[in-house]
Amino acid sequence: MPLESYELDENEKLLLQKILDGDIALRKIEEVADPETAVKLRRLAIQEFAKLEFEHIQNFSFDVEATTKKNIENMIGAIQLPLGVAGRLKVNGEYADSEYYVPLATTEGALVASVNRGCSAITKCGGANVRIFEDEMTRAPVFKLENLDRAKKFYEWVKSPAIFEQMKEVAEKTTRFGKLLSVKPFVAGTYVYLRFSYDTKDAMGMNMVTIATNAVLHLIEDEFGAEPISLSGNMCTDKKPASINTILGRGRTVVAEVTIPAEIVKNTLKCTPESMVEVNYSKNLLGSARAGAIGFNAHAANIIAAIYLACGQDAAHVVEGSTAITSMELTKYEEIHCTVTLPALPLGTVGGGTGLGTQRECLNLLGAAGAGDPPGANARKLAEIIAAAVLAGEISLIGAQAAGHLARAHAQLGRGKF
Ligand code: NAP
Repeated sequence: MPLESYELDENEKLLLQKILDGDIALRKIEEVADPETAVKLRRLAIQEFAKLEFEHIQNFSFDVEATTKKNIENMIGAIQLPLGVAGRLKVNGEYADSEYYVPLATTEGALVASVNRGCSAITKCGGANVRIFEDEMTRAPVFKLENLDRAKKFYEWVKSPAIFEQMKEVAEKTTRFGKLLSVKPFVAGTYVYLRFSYDTKDAMGMNMVTIATNAVLHLIEDEFGAEPISLSGNMCTDKKPASINTILGRGRTVVAEVTIPAEIVKNTLKCTPESMVEVNYSKNLLGSARAGAIGFNAHAANIIAAIYLACGQDAAHVVEGSTAITSMELTKYEEIHCTVTLPALPLGTVGGGTGLGTQRECLNLLGAAGAGDPPGANARKLAEIIAAAVLAGEISLIGAQAAGHLARAHAQLGRGKF
């Protein structure tokens, strides 16, 4: 497009020309223009570069200054995602104890409809009981020791209660909310990994625990002389599938359960408890075991991704969330007892993307925006609602497969594939 056709003042035109000529780097535009103008000029420069005209990327309502400071670099605009709701979903948790409309941001047709059906089944039989079993965010630096003897001495030194108290004091000086809960050592050759676990209250906590652990590295260097190689040695394990997270937990470890009478299975899910148990066993348990999967579920990631996107969570943490285990058993009263166990659900209601306008509104819809009272209560509430929603998704999909009508449902809705 000819530059004159853009509605720009003389200074903006001059700046755009400099950007196009390479005299101002894309990442430095905020140094010469206010945040709104910088985003606009960068977008126009990219348009020119790509010889395109963006019609939609420029449309958004969130605060550019706050967003470019905290959430993104080289911003040119925003993408949009359709937002739907599933519910009402009755949750009987220790923090979420009500009926909710669950926000789901997705482009996967049939997903909201599927979760909605599961919510209906759960709510009809009194709701999902949900409990949080662990609540710890981790960071695990790696240290190199001179030889095996030093590695063993370091390993033992770290386990001393007095040293833990020192590490706790140093770590907690860096945050008003975070609490250091434990430091577990692991060894590989002469490398020692320390898995620091923190209670991060309402924050997902990755920045918080990284800052706190970094402060402890200095103490370790001074007191023991162990050389830190990396602040993260991947025993954390952040955003990679890892058995350590499914065993020890990372973020919130949550379990949701519901017992559904045969009549509701028949009327709502159009199948029988026996057929659901058979599908769950052969698919989620046996099939996943045979495949060497870490998660033993049907599509937990679908629900977690959609809620994470809606509620401003770090989307990469779907990796941890996807390790859910789904169980379905018959009771002696011909009901089906369904559970979903989420060993590692990193999430927060403060920090990260939770302050963005649309995401904040979705958290508000759940009554879980911002800091909880007491601290941690809102993040735990969100964790319980997500666990119940994942249970709804599992029940609905297993029910659909049990009824053999998955193909028909998709043909009717004309899209999607699980
Ligand atoms: P954050 O955006 O750094 O904000 C969290 C901070 O909010 C806390 O540290 C705390 O400040 C404050 N806060 C206020 N009220 C609170 C409450 N009720 N409970 C807890 N904290 C409260 O968020 P974060 O959760 O630590 O980190 C999330 C971000 O980390 C995401 O943007 C994610 O993308 C990013 N991330 C970072 C890494 C990394 O390695 N650094 C890795 C993965 C993801 P004080 O601590 O000062 O008291």
